[in-house]
Amino acid sequence: MPSSTITELLRSSALKLQESDSPRLDVEILLARTLGCDRAAIYTRGAETLPDGIRGQFDQHLQQRLGGEPVAYITGEREFWSLALKVNNGILIPRPDTECLVAAALAHIPVRESLRIADLGTGSGAIALAIASERPRCHIVATDIDAATLATAEHNRDRHDLDNVELIASDWFTNLGGYVFHVIISNPPYIPDADPHLDQGDVRFEPRLALAGGADGLDMIRTIIDGAPDHLCPGGYLFLEHGFDQGDTVKALLRQRGFSSIECFDDLAGHHRGTGAQWQP
Ligand code: GLN
Repeated sequence: MPSSTITELLRSSALKLQESDSPRLDVEILLARTLGCDRAAIYTRGAETLPDGIRGQFDQHLQQRLGGEPVAYITGEREFWSLALKVNNGILIPRPDTECLVAAALAHIPVRESLRIADLGTGSGAIALAIASERPRCHIVATDIDAATLATAEHNRDRHDLDNVELIASDWFTNLGGYVFHVIISNPPYIPDADPHLDQGDVRFEPRLALAGGADGLDMIRTIIDGAPDHLCPGGYLFLEHGFDQGDTVKALLRQRGFSSIECFDDLAGHHRGTGAQWQP
């Protein structure tokens, strides 16, 4: 392997990764990870040559990425709402679009109030931890059906000292008997089972359990909308992420269940990616 500088390696590796949506960013993250520095430092250290051991490790990571593996699974980490979160291939990789769900919910959670909040199907803990970091007076219950996933969420909670987050193993509301919240938030699985996207790109490496939501993708969304009123204070809110083309159906389901003030919000691409609604019995 001829030695090359960090700058040369960055350019040649990004050229190889043309199948990725973000070749340069991918290489920056993998280089930063192997060097143990942040991404900006790659540019200040551009003239350096990588020591052999580190070069070997980088080449291995690049091969994994060339095989399609998501960067977050290679590094074992993903940033969400400026929080570095541990992830693995049993856990959905937190998406920037889900930060729009967090922002929509935060707009209904006044900073000074001590509200009870639930994040159902928390995965890495992304939504719960983002809300907990912004609203230290609130108590957040984060649930997941999978014990190993919940252990990772716990690791992420402890890493960021967010002790206002309580973790509970639960299949949606099954273990939440007696819990009542001011706000319930969820990014549930919502992709239709037969959607070809499940077998493409980075998504094919992620757990189906976190992605596929039945024939029309809405099975879990129906379960949550159905169960939420039993766990919401009067005037409480439900916020759901859903597919860009599911907004009208989700609105109709919320209306049928008796929710009011139903409003869609957009993702970063301007698609209706989520809906919020109020429970005013
Ligand atoms: N937004 C994700 C995707 O399209 C899906 C996440 C989910 O199902 N909750 O890959």
